[in-house]
Amino acid sequence: MRVDKDEIRARNDIVEVIGASVALRRRGRNYVGLCPFHNEKTPSFNVDPVTQTFRCFGCDASGDVFTFVERYQNMSFVEAAEYLARRAGVEFARGGQGQRAGERDRLYEINAIALAYYRAQLARNAFARDYVARRGLSEEALEKFQIGYAPDAWDGLVGYLTVRKSDLQAARQAGLLQVSSSGDLFDMFRHRLMFPILDEQERVVGFGGRCFGDEQPKYLNTGETPIFQKSRLLYGLPFARRRIGVEGKALLMEGYMDVIAAHQAGFTTAVATLGTALTEDHARRLARLFSSNPTVVLVYDADSAGVRATLRSSEILEKEGIGVRIVRLPEGDDPDSLLRRGESATFQRLIDAAVGRVEYQLDRIVAEADQSTEDGRATMLRRILAVLATVPSRSERDVYIEKVWQYHTMRASGAGVAKEQMHRDAEALAALNRERARRPVAVAPGAPAQARPRPATRLTATQRAERLLVRGLASAEWSVWVTRCANEDDFLDPSARRLFELVRDTPEAALSGPEALLEAVDAQGDAGFSEAVRALLQEFDSIAANEPLSDEALAGCVERLRQAKIRHLTAEMARCLQGPVVTEADREQVRAYHRTLEKLKGFPQAPSGKA
Ligand SMILES: [Zn+2]
Repeated sequence: MRVDKDEIRARNDIVEVIGASVALRRRGRNYVGLCPFHNEKTPSFNVDPVTQTFRCFGCDASGDVFTFVERYQNMSFVEAAEYLARRAGVEFARGGQGQRAGERDRLYEINAIALAYYRAQLARNAFARDYVARRGLSEEALEKFQIGYAPDAWDGLVGYLTVRKSDLQAARQAGLLQVSSSGDLFDMFRHRLMFPILDEQERVVGFGGRCFGDEQPKYLNTGETPIFQKSRLLYGLPFARRRIGVEGKALLMEGYMDVIAAHQAGFTTAVATLGTALTEDHARRLARLFSSNPTVVLVYDADSAGVRATLRSSEILEKEGIGVRIVRLPEGDDPDSLLRRGESATFQRLIDAAVGRVEYQLDRIVAEADQSTEDGRATMLRRILAVLATVPSRSERDVYIEKVWQYHTMRASGAGVAKEQMHRDAEALAALNRERARRPVAVAPGAPAQARPRPATRLTATQRAERLLVRGLASAEWSVWVTRCANEDDFLDPSARRLFELVRDTPEAALSGPEALLEAVDAQGDAGFSEAVRALLQEFDSIAANEPLSDEALAGCVERLRQAKIRHLTAEMARCLQGPVVTEADREQVRAYHRTLEKLKGFPQAPSGKA
């Protein structure tokens, strides 16, 4: 291999290369920023423009421009050299393997070809053009976000790539094509508005396809590929990165349309996750964009799923040292709907009025509480204390207690006494939580022998799928995802169904870890349910090592359970109609089964021509 390392180095200024991903500030003869290789709040990452090297005084990472790209992009030396060569327009000669490009490059290339195809299709499809016009997408936005259209055909992209003699296997690997049971390739995206997803180098790494009607899923995303990992990518980041650095603030939204509407209206720090929950990786990527005092403003829907996602994301962002502000959108509105009505000023006011996480939680607790009964008031106080226990500083807690002290049972003894008692209660609860976090997950005391975990191998595939979903449900990281993607009817096991409903209705339980979840389960006062959940949680300890949770795996489980349910209902329907006498009750039962079946079969739905 002939790589002219010196030439590549000479043509790639290290400050420019690193500056594209890390916000750098001049300090003396060097540049400093937050280290991308470890978590920190004050910059200890130095870039020296004279020696063309970097060094972090926090984690000791150091090297030249090649080392940086290798580590930051997760590339081999050859890939990094190729990347830098392309960046600087240097001829890159590879020996041995002829001109065959690396695997990742084949994927980038085929995605770029597919993008050109989808964009050309949008230009010539009147229905799709009309749709984007009705959605208020400007020409500039279509251009900037490179929006396209996948036609209503099984062989549109296949045909295009075949004629061009493009690499069909790469297209399959990139998730653009699928293979039918008879071995034929067909288009993954059909009759959908196509949103290309770009990485930080603005290369197309995947797509999100939005349907036009009520089909499910509403958004179909590229599956995981070597270049497309949903847990790391943020929609709109390449267009928002610079402004985020300048303003020291990012707007985090839920949907692609929200981001586009925001940028169109001048809110150019907007980004979104790709239909998944925010991960620590996302948070770290965001943190890197700020030089100091990072703030992320969460703009999620006001529905219950949005509230859960808000709390979950706040927690992850705060862990990475990012300040969180929460926008309270009017019920039923999202940034897209609001901005489409031209209410930019309202949106700006909502951003200015964003509140911190604790205030947001306390307001919700009070608003949701049933203050007319003693039980309702007691529950409210318990929830208030649980939130206050997460505030470590007394002075900060003071501010919040000022707003909620009157809900304490000691209020009759006067404000001073009630406030002081609230402090003590919150501190006691915080101490208890710390103590619990130190202890390993408790095995149910005196659990009967038959509650021992059954080996996972003896379960049917459907039972295994259900177990995996329950595991997701019980984990802080995946619980929100599961409650969003599944519904209670998906579960066959009554305890699993009940646990699902519990986590859906009181998401804090699962978000605070297994101990808190068990506590919430115990609070239901049903020994059988408690025991069943303990048995499930114990079982997970034994299988956790070999079956990692991912959104792909969990989505597969939901689908498997739905199929099992459809089979079960079909059999039940047949049974109802098979008896010697079919009563009116039987017929009513069959009609009920039928309605459930129709609902279940709607997911996932085959593409249809209607909009
Ligand atoms: Zn470091």
